[in-house]
Amino acid sequence: MKARTHDLAAISALGIVVAAQPNLKLTLGTALTALLANQLGGIAPDIDQPTAPFWRNLPIGGFFGKIIGKMLGGHRFITHSIVGLVLMGFLANLLLLTLHPIMPGINIDIVWWAFMVGMLSHLIMDSFTKEGVPWFLPIPLKIGFPPIRALRVTTGKLGEGVVFALILIADAGLLGGHYAEIVQFLHHRIVY
Ligand SMILES: [Zn+2]
Repeated sequence: MKARTHDLAAISALGIVVAAQPNLKLTLGTALTALLANQLGGIAPDIDQPTAPFWRNLPIGGFFGKIIGKMLGGHRFITHSIVGLVLMGFLANLLLLTLHPIMPGINIDIVWWAFMVGMLSHLIMDSFTKEGVPWFLPIPLKIGFPPIRALRVTTGKLGEGVVFALILIADAGLLGGHYAEIVQFLHHRIVY
């Protein structure tokens, strides 16, 4: 799937997770950092692809992207598996622990979870594409949904546009249906 679909899926997944945490309270700084981490998590598995936006935005990103892509086994390999999720979660945790002293007042646990929700949503979304995802590496079997490949989406084609629109419609329905709770959340659960 393309980056914009992953961005939308990541933030939608985060919204659902937050909605399921009635006692969650967080500072504005934590909320904004968590949003950023969520969006990064949503595209992080595609660091194995030299053409990913992640690399395109860096000056010699294409070059590094190619090297890192090869090291990670090519596109849709280790970073698109449960082993990759655990490894990247571990690295993200190390990075957050290192950065914590310069980010006072930021709850790094929440930021970490937001990153992981983004990554997991990426793998789920890629599972809807024809290529599938090697969830259970080192078992080299690419799994997709629905199991019949012909019914899955081709990245960048009409099917992906339909998936994007469906997520938007679901989000709009959820936001509209829970308007009061969302206002309540912004007023009472984002603390200073
Ligand atoms: Zn991907």
